[in-house]
Amino acid sequence: MKQLDRIVLQYKDGDYYANLWKIVSRDLVSHYGEDLYKSWFSKINFFEAIGESEIILSAPSNFIRDWIKSNYFDIISKLLVHHDTKVKSVDIITKELPKSDVIVVTSNTFSLIDQNEIKDDTTASLDPRFTFDNFVVGPPNELAYAASLAVAESDEAISKSNPLFLYGGVGLGKTHLMHAIAWHANKKNPNRKVLYMSAEKFMYRFIKALRNKDIMSFKEEFRSVDVLMIDDIQFICGKESTQEEFFHTFNAIIDNNKQMVISCDRSPTDLDNVEDRIKSRLGWGLVADVHSTTYELRVGILESKLERMNIKISKPVIDFLASKITSNVRELEGALNKVIAHSTLVGREITLESTQDILRDLLRSNERTITIEDIHKKVANRYNIKVSDMSSSSRLRSIARPRQIAMYLSKTLTPKSLADIGMKFGKKDHTTVMHAIKKIETIMTSDPDFREEVNLLSRILQS
Ligand code: ADP
Ligand code: MG
Repeated sequence: MKQLDRIVLQYKDGDYYANLWKIVSRDLVSHYGEDLYKSWFSKINFFEAIGESEIILSAPSNFIRDWIKSNYFDIISKLLVHHDTKVKSVDIITKELPKSDVIVVTSNTFSLIDQNEIKDDTTASLDPRFTFDNFVVGPPNELAYAASLAVAESDEAISKSNPLFLYGGVGLGKTHLMHAIAWHANKKNPNRKVLYMSAEKFMYRFIKALRNKDIMSFKEEFRSVDVLMIDDIQFICGKESTQEEFFHTFNAIIDNNKQMVISCDRSPTDLDNVEDRIKSRLGWGLVADVHSTTYELRVGILESKLERMNIKISKPVIDFLASKITSNVRELEGALNKVIAHSTLVGREITLESTQDILRDLLRSNERTITIEDIHKKVANRYNIKVSDMSSSSRLRSIARPRQIAMYLSKTLTPKSLADIGMKFGKKDHTTVMHAIKKIETIMTSDPDFREEVNLLSRILQS
């Protein structure tokens, strides 16, 4: 079997094997797809390891255990051995897991939290592959990379980058950079206390502390760290009390000259349901945009990954992947893994034909078309105007400008001609559409906020 994704995990305790199972699960998702994964593999958990060579997994019922054993046992065993060559035998037992401890919170944001999901051990959630070494740098992410590395290298907070605010669309490497900061800072200066947490987990922890009337130790824990990283803070926007507590924590950290690193899917100014004072405070340090990848960066990422896995793939295949899978790096990696896993399993070489074949469904779903109607809706919604305003001839700025933006997005996100676009905007002439596009492009060049606004809309439409 060729090398897939060998990962060196540090500690061989329960977490190690639970992580190993997670890594194998990821391969299973990329090979069999989400649906099959959800129906079968997601029910399987790591149960225990006997020494370093025997792994026992658990299934919630005899039926599932037998089904997995008769259909997927071979691949599961192969993958486990592949990721950890010490593993010699694998077994699956039936074990009903205790009902998870659920917290019921009466809030309109959510009602049930599975506490099994919440591991309090922070380092356990760091992905060993997400290091600076494994991060491929190019123009779209070089600022974010350099700023992250500087934070990780420094022994104290860097005031001009405090907070370091990383933002960009999904799957572009924000989490990767944050984990890399944690790994690197920890290696460089083990005394520096680094805490990484998703905003979602921050919220769970906060609610748990409220429930257990333990808010003091919650506050203390966060305030005693040297580097606090909170990932995906868009998640807590508008969740009032969590947001408020986050902001207190944030202020305390910065006032203490400790480092804050935040990631988000949009820039501070674009956060909805957040007070202006908070938005502006979030943008005080260094705001670094992780832009969408370019073709060259995607090729670089594929090549680096292949090199690490010690697998060779022909140039046309790399080229095909880099030009077809453009949405985000996670999907690009997923596609590559799928191709490799497939060829490993069937023992055939990877060719352009086999790649096209294996990825047919994925590519088809990637080609999900954005319609002009989608654009009408999204843009009208964003600017609080009516969808019918898109087809009107009103020259009111508050209507005409969003309409021009929508025309611009129609041209960039759909294959429609100027004439077709004009038709969809209340039978306008193609020159009107052309004028609108030029106008938007001009403003985008001169006004970075506006550019960001339009790019954000474009990203939302594509996601
Ligand atoms: P985000 O948090 O921005 O949604 P992630 O950090 O989870 O994205 O990245 C998604 C996947 O893409 C991860 O597996 C990550 O390692 C990989 N990735 C993203 N950018 C790069 C890069 N520049 N070099 C190498 N891998 C990358
Ligand atoms: Mg992320």
